[in-house]
Amino acid sequence: MKRSTVNSLASYIDALHPIIYINHFDSMVIDDAITQVGEGVKCLEFNNALGLVDFCTKSPMKECDLEQFLKLTMDDGFEKSTFLILRDIHGQLNEPKIIALLKKIAENNLYRDDYNETIFIISEIAVIPRELENYITMFDIPLPTIHEIHTMIGQFVNDLEITVEEEVMNDIALSFKGLNEFQIKQILNLAYQDGGCIDKEDKVLILKEKEQFIKKSGMLEIVAFSETIEDIGGLENMKQWLERKAKIFANLDKAIKFGVDIPKGMMIIGMPGCGKSLTAKATASLFQIPLVRLDVGRLLGKYVGESEENMRKALKLSEAISPCVLWIDEIEKAFSGVGGDGGGSDVTTRLFGQFLTWMQEKENTVFIVATANDISKMPAEFLRKGRFDELFFVDLPNGEERRKILEIHLKKRRKWNESIDSIALIQKTEGFNGADLEAVVKDTIETAFIDGKAEITTADLICSVEDTKSISSTLKDKILQIRETISKIDIKPASVSNKKKSGEKVK
Ligand code: ATP
Repeated sequence: MKRSTVNSLASYIDALHPIIYINHFDSMVIDDAITQVGEGVKCLEFNNALGLVDFCTKSPMKECDLEQFLKLTMDDGFEKSTFLILRDIHGQLNEPKIIALLKKIAENNLYRDDYNETIFIISEIAVIPRELENYITMFDIPLPTIHEIHTMIGQFVNDLEITVEEEVMNDIALSFKGLNEFQIKQILNLAYQDGGCIDKEDKVLILKEKEQFIKKSGMLEIVAFSETIEDIGGLENMKQWLERKAKIFANLDKAIKFGVDIPKGMMIIGMPGCGKSLTAKATASLFQIPLVRLDVGRLLGKYVGESEENMRKALKLSEAISPCVLWIDEIEKAFSGVGGDGGGSDVTTRLFGQFLTWMQEKENTVFIVATANDISKMPAEFLRKGRFDELFFVDLPNGEERRKILEIHLKKRRKWNESIDSIALIQKTEGFNGADLEAVVKDTIETAFIDGKAEITTADLICSVEDTKSISSTLKDKILQIRETISKIDIKPASVSNKKKSGEKVK
């Protein structure tokens, strides 16, 4: 464990912080830290299954439940400096008697000169009862820095007496970012067992394993993508803006030294199926950084304070993986009704506040891409300039954009040919969104295959167009409502020729 982490733990104890909550799973790491700060201190450990156990050997000493344990040990602090180490007791932190006993010990520690007893609560789930909020200090064991990861790999290869090329070492160290010591060691062992060495190929294994750990944490999801900026038809304003930001991401160090502000992120609002998700993926590809998705619904926990803690962890994890694109899909659903009478619960209101503060203060290289359809119920604070670098409105594609989208999807399936009459198609597809156009292409190609045709003709495409119910016919009211809401806010059109396009009718 890093000296500075142990020092800051020691300073909390010296400053009489009575309850220290360590939200971590690796008991070896934590025991090591407590041992380092607890020289000469009496350490009494509680285990849910075994009662009082020996802190060093973990062997059972006295069978008891948590209440009995606390009663049994609460006066020890009068005789000798004592640490009470309570493991995995989060499920009991809603019991009035447990809360009362913890409070009593905490107060003694704070106010009585003849008493010295510090409580450590160690659990992967953070539960902070309101009554103890003022006594509890959350203590984070920071994830290893890139320098520390290098040292860990160095030690690993030295112990095994193998050599690793410098370039591979740098690459591997970078891909370990965001993982803790335990996870890194586990993956290194796996990689070594796999081939008896550590080489370039192991990067794939590391990424896969890393994905597993991040998945298991349940907070963020790494999204695999193959889409690039060339796969987006139209939306030229937004693409140009992204190209500019990509230049900053490609030269982050230089840009920051020059005085450029680190891009915070963008919000894309607009019609369903018009390329919002596609843009999130293309952004990560353009910036050449991973794409991670935050699902706010998944953060909601059953214990008091658990959801906020999950949000804190998810944001921290995104920072640890950074530079990355943090994609929040359908953000209006996650935070709808917050602060108003739209039905947002207290928890979502608190999560929203937490997210806003993080966004406001963030100086990291997490680039947020928030996407939304209907923002009529979104809290106004969210849309204020300064939160995001830019808000973009994605409307239904105009004629030229529809042509481009059809071309992209036909080319992707190797069925584009010069004889396809774009003008006729543009006219026939007014009111179609990108997803409708993709469906037309897929349908046409499938029919051509079944009919034994080698080429696609304009007539084939028009035939599918006529069989397709466009979004403008199925979601007419929703489209009008989105346009109405958008007209009231200061937002940039994602497309270049938006003015011309708005003349087109919603069919
Ligand atoms: P929703 O609001 O329903 O989530 P969305 O705006 O996120 O929709 P996407 O998932 O990006 O829509 O698009 C749906 C499909 O339509 C994608 O698979 C993509 O291939 C196609 N598509 C949409 N817009 C475009 C576009 N501008 N260029 C190329 N393809 C597009």
